Amino acid sequence: MAPEILEHTFYPHTNEARLLRSSVIEFAEAHVAPRALEVDRAGAEDALEYAKEIVRRAAEARLLSLIVPEELGGPGGLTYEGSNVLEVLSYYDAGTATTIGAIWLGLLPIYIAGLGDGGESWRRWLKPFLEAEERGDPQIWAFAITEPEAGSDYERVEPGSKPSLTTVAKPLPSGGYEISGRKIFISNGPIASHVTVFAVTDPERPIETMMCAVVTREMGFKVAQVFDKMGHRSSPTGELVFEEVRVPPENVVCKPGSGWEFVEMTLTLSRAPVGAIGLGIAKRAFQAALDYAKTRIQGGRPIVEHQLVKYKLSAMLERVAYAESLIYTVARKIDEAPTPLKIVESSVAKAVGADVAVLNSIDAIQIYGGYGYMRETGVEKLLRDAKLIQIYEGTNEINRLTVMERYLEYGGVLLD
Ligand SMILES: Cc1cc2nc3c(=O)[nH]c(=O)nc-3n(C[C@H](O)[C@H](O)[C@H](O)COP(=O)(O)OP(=O)(O)OC[C@H]3O[C@@H](n4cnc5c(N)ncnc54)[C@H](O)[C@@H]3O)c2cc1C
Repeated sequence: MAPEILEHTFYPHTNEARLLRSSVIEFAEAHVAPRALEVDRAGAEDALEYAKEIVRRAAEARLLSLIVPEELGGPGGLTYEGSNVLEVLSYYDAGTATTIGAIWLGLLPIYIAGLGDGGESWRRWLKPFLEAEERGDPQIWAFAITEPEAGSDYERVEPGSKPSLTTVAKPLPSGGYEISGRKIFISNGPIASHVTVFAVTDPERPIETMMCAVVTREMGFKVAQVFDKMGHRSSPTGELVFEEVRVPPENVVCKPGSGWEFVEMTLTLSRAPVGAIGLGIAKRAFQAALDYAKTRIQGGRPIVEHQLVKYKLSAMLERVAYAESLIYTVARKIDEAPTPLKIVESSVAKAVGADVAVLNSIDAIQIYGGYGYMRETGVEKLLRDAKLIQIYEGTNEINRLTVMERYLEYGGVLLD
């Protein structure tokens, strides 16, 4: 039976979204839930096989092609549908949601390019992606901007500053590029078949010369390390090294000078779904705490009957309600007209989704008492998973700076 908090929502989802959610619940109950705690305890290298296996299963369930446009034979979903899938997966295991979400993140620059080139980029990349899914041999995409010396600097440019971006794309006479540099903390990096990489042709003028290209595993990027992480342990995170990797002209997603716009548009489309990963954790924390509070007897009665526990549960439900209402309102607004200025709404949704995940998982541990601190209950995992949402996809601080800077620049009209 589907968990109550996933089935009965505050946001009035469409019938299509409800069907999608049911199919993802079925998928996650069968393939994610049974292994979530085991993979969380395994080593970072062991999780690589799980991640590949879950992507293959997601391909069988035809989940990966969700964002492939209808004209190519895909379902044509975007932020709203993606958020629904990631929220439900995250309820069962946030790392699995990150693995699937990172595939879409890697594809987003292609999606954006296709909006401007009459769908040529979609035909070049999304059609084979769909076909690979149909064959049961899915492509695994990753998105690589972060560098050892440039994290926040890539998510928001400090006014008047020059970010230190050192992955360089050297133009070749063929129209292609030779890419050299390092990218760190790349979700799916260790298992990726395709990586959308951002690089600059002139490090002295990084914003003016930023470009993006697809680098495939055959072209020869190296995985320098697989990171061992606090949470999201089922999602492989790696450092990638590019040593004079030659990229043909047809792999160029956007030319030097338009890379920054592509980053902003990607974040506009990806941040609400990342907020939804937080929402999934917040819902799991609420449901776990409620179920436990109904059965744990202290003071002669179930602890749920104590007013202070009720109050805490109510506050948790309240956070679920406002995060859910916000994230899906924002997601649908973005899908109606995806423009870069909607980075304001998407950043608000991301920051709120992240914070409710952390707050609810802390409260869930408290309601569980000593048992909440023990690994066997899986409740402490929620807090470890929740913390990442405040850090990746731009830290919450950077998201909030972006919101207020844009708001001050454009005023309330921005939200129309
Ligand atoms: C598990 C994981 C998965 C990731 N996946 C990907 C991925 O798939 N692809 C990818 O490209 N990247 C990925 N990232 C990178 C992620 O987006 C960055 O870690 C994040 O943007 C923060 O950058 P940083 O780690 O360099 O921190 P820093 O930028 O060094 O920030 C450190 C601290 O300083 C604060 N700070 C920095 N600048 C400012 C400022 N101007 N004003 C106020 N405060 C500031 C930050 O908020 C933070 O608290 C991932 C990271 C992790 C941990």
